[in-house]
Amino acid sequence: MRKELLQHPVFAMAVEQFDQVADFLDLSDDLRERCKWPKRLITVTVPIRRDDGRTEVFFGHRVQHQLTRGPVKGGLRYHPGVALGEIAALAMWMNWKCALMDLPYGGGKGGITCDPRSMSLGELERLTRRYTMEMIPFIDPETDVMAPDMGTNEQTMGWIADTYSTHAGHLVPSIVTGKPLALQGSKGRSKATGYGVAFCACKSLVNLGLSVQGATTVIQGFGNVGAHAADAFVSSGVLVTGVADVDGAIWNARGLNIRLLREHVAKIGSVAGFSESEPIDPAQLLCQPCDILAPCALDRSITCDNAPKLRCKILAEGANGPTTPEADRILDARGDVFIIPDILCNAGGVTVSYFEWVQNLQRFQWEEQDVISKLEVILTKAMAKVSDFSQRQHVSNRISAQAIAIRTVADSKAARGMFP
Ligand code: NAD
Repeated sequence: MRKELLQHPVFAMAVEQFDQVADFLDLSDDLRERCKWPKRLITVTVPIRRDDGRTEVFFGHRVQHQLTRGPVKGGLRYHPGVALGEIAALAMWMNWKCALMDLPYGGGKGGITCDPRSMSLGELERLTRRYTMEMIPFIDPETDVMAPDMGTNEQTMGWIADTYSTHAGHLVPSIVTGKPLALQGSKGRSKATGYGVAFCACKSLVNLGLSVQGATTVIQGFGNVGAHAADAFVSSGVLVTGVADVDGAIWNARGLNIRLLREHVAKIGSVAGFSESEPIDPAQLLCQPCDILAPCALDRSITCDNAPKLRCKILAEGANGPTTPEADRILDARGDVFIIPDILCNAGGVTVSYFEWVQNLQRFQWEEQDVISKLEVILTKAMAKVSDFSQRQHVSNRISAQAIAIRTVADSKAARGMFP
């Protein structure tokens, strides 16, 4: 299994990062092995009836990286590229993210290899409900709590909550987070990840002595993370000059009108063709001059090909794993791009998911202002921790963030000891 996982480039990337940090921490072989490998890898077949009457069998996965510090927490992804190795890497990153943010969780991730854009709502509902049924032996609010990720949304979480609750015989809202407000979702959850990306990026501008008002940003991805980040940037006075999605990229040096862009995307399904902008090559967009580049789509979008050409001052990683280790080395050597690593930059989502779970367990609803101010406190604390450690130890922000997280997990494992 080790060999199979390592054959996936995203898992190999997560392990390369882990090994580098474990060397830096001088982690014992015992703790290194126990921290690195996932506790559970679950793969199921998910048969559904398509709208045309055919039966189609999909493959679904769930990886529970570690349960040492509490239930695993992590998204569910629907995408044609989903593979077990990729899901295992994302679960590992979630593990470090939860530890860095001091949340009482381990990391998990799930996914189904499918193209949600080519499926009807009914097909997606059948797929989600069947996947949930297959996962029931392995999930509960104290073991594994899912949330939305690429290709899934509040509605997907609503179907999971309903399927699980029907099986339990009573409503169990704490089985998922990122669900609709009507099902005891949390105020502020849908915007939390994007809001956190913009919050970390704007705070970093200030820390670097740069002005927030009139700063510029380019965003790759205009889904849950990218679109909410765009809203939050605009509210802070930052101009969003470029946006890309899977179908194309657009540019307006004077700043895009995000409200009109959202209306266009709601109608057309893509940012492409937005009238108040010009089209631009998506690869070129990433290399346009800007203060903040925010990759909020796929992993591995910043590579050794484009890293030397980036013209941003801050790289705000909204996506998980957007920067390859080779690109990291190039940016490190350049020394002129301030990186806010994914496990910090996009941690707003899991933090508010934690708030949602707490509210569900307490049967209590917080106001949005409470949610956002508690989120800001946690993000500010984590940013300060990462910055202090990186300055004291003379390491990059990524190594700093992962070192704090891996040390936290290793200490918990050491304290629990190993079951004989
Ligand atoms: P989403 O499905 O809502 O949106 C994804 C966006 O990326 C879409 O606009 C899509 O068109 C675009 N995209 C896909 N392929 C692309 C490509 N090749 N080039 C340019 N754009 C492309 O997904 P999301 O929830 O916004 O998640 C985006 C990223 O953020 C993922 O890496 C996810 O793991 C990470 N993330 C999400 C959350 C969350 O709360 N949703 C939390 C933390 C991290």
